[in-house]
Formats: sequence, C-alpha cells, structure tokens
Amino acid sequence: MSNLKIRDVRVIVTQPTANLNVVKIETNEPELYGLGCATFTQRALVVETAVNDYLRPFLIGKDPADIEDIWQSCNVSAYWRNGPILNNAISGVDQALWDIKGKVAGMPVYDLFGGKSREAAAVYIVPGGNDLKEYEENVWAFIEDGFRYFKLGGTDRLFLDDSPHSEKPVITDKVSESSGSIYDPAQSVRAIVRAFEHFRSTFGWEVDIIYDVHERLPPIMGLGLAKELEPFRLFFLEDLFAPEDNDYFRLVREQTSTPIAMGELYNNPHEIIPMVKDRLLDFMRVHVSQIGGLTPARKLAALCEAFNVRTAWHGPGDVSPVGHAAQLMLDLNVWNFGIQEAGPYQTDLLKEVFPGTPEVRNGYMWANGKPGLGIDIDEELAAKYPITEPASSNWSWGNVRLADGTIIRP
Ligand code: MG
Repeated sequence: MSNLKIRDVRVIVTQPTANLNVVKIETNEPELYGLGCATFTQRALVVETAVNDYLRPFLIGKDPADIEDIWQSCNVSAYWRNGPILNNAISGVDQALWDIKGKVAGMPVYDLFGGKSREAAAVYIVPGGNDLKEYEENVWAFIEDGFRYFKLGGTDRLFLDDSPHSEKPVITDKVSESSGSIYDPAQSVRAIVRAFEHFRSTFGWEVDIIYDVHERLPPIMGLGLAKELEPFRLFFLEDLFAPEDNDYFRLVREQTSTPIAMGELYNNPHEIIPMVKDRLLDFMRVHVSQIGGLTPARKLAALCEAFNVRTAWHGPGDVSPVGHAAQLMLDLNVWNFGIQEAGPYQTDLLKEVFPGTPEVRNGYMWANGKPGLGIDIDEELAAKYPITEPASSNWSWGNVRLADGTIIRP
C-alpha cells in the first residue's frame, strides 16, 4: 500500500487524425499522472461515457499501485464483460496506472516487466502511392532506409493497373453513396495472387510481405488463397477468417505452411485461448486496448510464449500514440515478439499533440527510455481538434457489399 490516491480520472477525446480517446489519471501528488489509450475510433463517445460516468466514481480514492486489483474489479464491475466498449475503457485506466507506476519507480514500463529482450521493435508498414510507379518508388525508398516488412493490403489494385493481366480493382468504385464499396471475392483472390507475383518479381526475396484479407472471403476461398500464396513465402497472412470462423484455421494448418496472423477483432479470452493452445496461428495480433490494456496483454503474451506464438499487436492509425508507446513496452520486453505494425501515427501534428511519441527509423520503433510510458499530451492543442462523431464515416465498416447488395462481414 502506498500513500498515493487516485484524485481524478477523465477521458481526453481528440481528433488530430482519427478519433482518439486517452484516459488521464491524476493522483494526490501534484504533477504525478498517467496516460492510457482507450481508443475505439468508431464509438469514441460511448467509451468516454463508460470512463467518466462509470469507472471514475469507482476509482477515485483507490491506490494507483494496485493495478491488478483495479483491473480485476473493473472487469467484473458491470457483471457482463469482455465487450469492446468496457474493455477499451478499462485499457485507458490500466495503461495510465502502469504509466504512473513507472514514473514512481523512475523506470520505463518495460523495466517493470523484467527489462528488454531487444533494443528496438521491427515494424511493418503499408507503403502508399497514387499509382504503381509512385508506389514502387516509395517501397524502394523505404528499403533504402532500412525497412524490410511491407503489407500489401489495400494496395493490390495499384499492381493490377499496370499489369499485363490487368483486371478491375479489388474493391471497385462506389456504385452510389448509399451502397458503399462492392467486393468481388473471386476477383479479389486473383488480384491478390497477381499482386504477390508482381511484388516478388519487382523487389525480390530480401523483403518480407504481409497480406491482410480483412476476413472478407468465404472460408473455403480463404483456405484456397492460403495454399496458393505458399510459394511466395509470406511473413504472415492476416485476418483470413472472421472470429466466428475460427475453426476453419484447423484446415489451413493441415494443408499449408503459410504463416497465419489473427486477432485484431478478438475481445474475449474464449476467442483467443483455443487458437493459441491448438497452435492454429503463428502471430497474435490483438488490439491491446480492445482486450483491456497492458495487464491482460502481457499475460496473453506469456501464454503465447509457451506455445511459441509470436506477438504482432494491432497498430494502425486508430491506436493513439499513447497506445503505441504502451505496446512498445511489451514489444521490447517479451521474448516472443514477432513484429509491430506501425500505422500512420507519426504525423508532425500527432507528435506535437503527443510529445514523446515513439520514433520509427531504420525499420524499427524506438523507445525514449523515459520513466513510465515516456509519452505526454498537450491538452490545449488536443482541444483544438474536437471529434466530429457521429458525422464522420463510422459506418464504413458496415457498408462493404457483394454486387447484389449483401453486406460482407469484416
Ligand atoms: Mg488486419
């Protein structure tokens, strides 16, 4: 028991890029506070309510040192549990408490976890480009700068535009404002394979390739794709099936050695544990705030280590820089680190709003070695970027359809 008490808990909601939720926990010691990521971009205001109206009264007066007890009690405080809203709310609190504990100890959080297994975390990125030429120039520039891991998802259409086997893009243009994007599974599979042929013939075998299916294919077509891609020696194939179709991974395992990454849609231990214990995946890539923060994520990493499953935490632009700083603590600590997704979170504006944002250079993400998570927030600047929810495109995930209008599950 320490002499510290939680004095206040609140959510800072800002939209310098995506909607970002960051929890700030203040203590009775002046200037001692912690930050944690509670970002659920598509439902940011609901998470704000869950923290400010429900967790805040529960937490004020508690000892911030008791992270485990606070996590466990928050997790069951609403009786029903393991959903994305409450998990994100708990994550914001949990990461902020680890931040405070590190500041009290004068150590980065990875030192509290047992120290570093590596100097920096290798990252993968999604190269952009308006056309194939620009895309290829960008990839070569990244290779020159030391980057080795590239994700093709969403860019396959660029390869097709200039291909002798040119077909329509994977996701065609909108047919109308109300009908969203049209997705053709068979066309998509052909396009993905051609994109891999093009990528390997252009950039060779020294780089590693990742592809994100985003769970859109019918399972039997996903199985076929995993087999067809085997000769291209992927680093991993991501999100091949929706969580509802987890059992199909057994067939993938029996029929191909294409490495499998899965997890960003998982909320619940019952979705996750069978995948690990039955060795149905190679990379665990849960969204750390989505499962409740660093406390459950480090336990999950330990479970994965026992089965030699590596980590690849979900890290796109809808993880706040605070969330990136938090998962970097695990990346540096756990032995079974695989890779870190380094989404487009490093704009100059984000670095200004979040001083201490982890640097990505030479293909790696680097920690700054400061106590706690090593990151702060400029609240005045953050307030200049209020979120626009619900007017923003929060329905985009629910509006990808087959040509006949049927919704496709992501
Ligand atoms: Mg994914």
